[in-house]
Amino acid sequence: MSRQRIAILGATGSIGVSTLDVVARHPDRYEVVVLTGHRRMDVLAEQCRQHRPRFAVAGSAEAAQELSQRLGEVGAGITILSGPDALVQVASMDETDTVMAAIVGAAGLPSALAAATAGKRILLANKEALVMAGALFMAEVRRSGATLLPIDSEHNAIFQSLPSDFSGDLAVSGVRKILLTASGGPFRKATLAQLQQVTPEQACAHPNWVMGRKISVDSATMMNKGLEVIEAHWLFNAAADDIQVVVHPQSVIHSLVQYVDGSVLAQLGNPDMRTPIAHALAYPDRIESGVASLDLFAIAQLNFEQPDFERFPCLALAYQALRAGGNAPAVLNAANEEAVAAFLDGHLPFMTISCVIETALQEVPWAAADSLATVLAADAASRTAARQAIERLTS
Ligand code: NAD
Ligand code: MG
Repeated sequence: MSRQRIAILGATGSIGVSTLDVVARHPDRYEVVVLTGHRRMDVLAEQCRQHRPRFAVAGSAEAAQELSQRLGEVGAGITILSGPDALVQVASMDETDTVMAAIVGAAGLPSALAAATAGKRILLANKEALVMAGALFMAEVRRSGATLLPIDSEHNAIFQSLPSDFSGDLAVSGVRKILLTASGGPFRKATLAQLQQVTPEQACAHPNWVMGRKISVDSATMMNKGLEVIEAHWLFNAAADDIQVVVHPQSVIHSLVQYVDGSVLAQLGNPDMRTPIAHALAYPDRIESGVASLDLFAIAQLNFEQPDFERFPCLALAYQALRAGGNAPAVLNAANEEAVAAFLDGHLPFMTISCVIETALQEVPWAAADSLATVLAADAASRTAARQAIERLTS
């Protein structure tokens, strides 16, 4: 069996590190061909030393120079590139079979889309790409014959709970509803008054998952679940009404599929991203991931609650954007990224994140999202509207 040749985009992040952990357990199956990282060249250099990729991509020319210096002689066998164009180049090059798309945010869209256009096996962690440009992305996957495997734990669970020959029509498969589980984040039980006082450190301390800072804040506002509703819409061709969010604080059931005969199929496991990563890497085989077996007796209880749209208005805004369609999800995503960055910088209060997004959705005119250019225009217009809203809210 020839080894799968992998590009890991966003190798220095939480998903990237987990991916390398799984890959390193199976040197007979996987060859790391590309590693990319934006700023943390100390981390990328160490990863290059360990995995010896043929290409490494840094965020800027200066970062590339730093990487080259850090690598010294090891760097001789590695082509070092930099910048957004290089990400697109390595995502579509003939030297790879599989692309792990694990860059955070809108910055991950062009390279993920390039992998789709090139017909790669795509392991998609970067949910923002589907939120922004779902129609385009799925059209490219179909046109090129790319294989799209979801890494987001909920979507990976849904994928595993759908029929293996799922055609893209839920009704034909006898599916009544997709039940998307949510941990509820660190503030599941917080009152509105407590939510006004939340600090970045509190928001980033997730009860069940260790993740990058942006997605941690998204989990705390439940925008992460909103983005995932939109992600599920595109991946599984599901209408907004067919996707129900279920708060499940233990994060053991990663999502469920309800069928018309009353059956409900689910995927369970310890909350560790190495499980969905190993699933997608090996699909349709199964490989060791390093994740401990689930101990049902230790867990003892599984609880379920309705989501609270009042304390978590971001979730309602995401449903609203999905129903509006066109560029609305791209506007939602961009305004969220700006608001989260301002919150993490310490100058935007937690509960005004949703106000910024709501303003951007009102101010940016609706348009079709039928090309990368129209999506990126919506992203830019939304960031301008969001920055102005942040300015008004904080001055
Ligand atoms: P992270 O912040 O830990 O890592 C992000 C990676 O992207 C890093 O390698 C960073 O160098 C790179 N990056 C950041 N900005 C960039 C830019 N402008 N250009 C190029 N590269 C850039 O994030 P993460 O938690 O690993 O999340 C990555 C993606 O996976 C996100 O879309 C997130 O929603 C999704 N995801 C993460 C988890 C998780 O458990 N961490 C679970 C499900 C989905
Ligand atoms: Mg998820």
